Amino acid sequence: MNHHIAPDDCIFCKIVAGEAPGHRVYEDEAVLVFLDIFPVADGHTLVIPKQHATNLLACTGDDLASVVRISQRVAQAQRAVFDPDGIGVFQLNGAAAGQTVFHYHMHLIPRMQGDTLAVHSRTPGDPERLKTQAEQLTAAFPA
Ligand code: AMP
Ligand code: ZN
Repeated sequence: MNHHIAPDDCIFCKIVAGEAPGHRVYEDEAVLVFLDIFPVADGHTLVIPKQHATNLLACTGDDLASVVRISQRVAQAQRAVFDPDGIGVFQLNGAAAGQTVFHYHMHLIPRMQGDTLAVHSRTPGDPERLKTQAEQLTAAFPA
């Protein structure tokens, strides 16, 4: 029984349903992993529960656990592909906290020493580059 009714205009629900394009990396029954289309760094990845929930406060415990479990595997794939100096993992709850898409999601951002620590970008990623990086992360995704 789904107690979390998705709004018709949720872009992440549309990506889950295949009704909007996404550079998909991995999915299972509970979660979808895809690249952020406005990346702040190469390999900027999002992990979302497939079941709509606006934020941390609304998400089920099981979905939160799934998102974190898969986030570790994303980080392992990012390490294999990008060899970053660090990986930023964060999520924002509510517009006042900077949340802009109201479907719960975890950001995983490979960081290099000396990077500007931006949370958002206004520059869309190059589609070919995103496609290649999604394929690289999928290939490196640990079983
Ligand atoms: P937040 O500000 O934490 O809500 O993050 C929302 C993120 O979703 C931003 O980093 C956006 O660049 C990203 N984003 C928005 N629309 C899409 C989309 N259609 N596909 C992939 N990422 C998106
Ligand atoms: Zn949604």
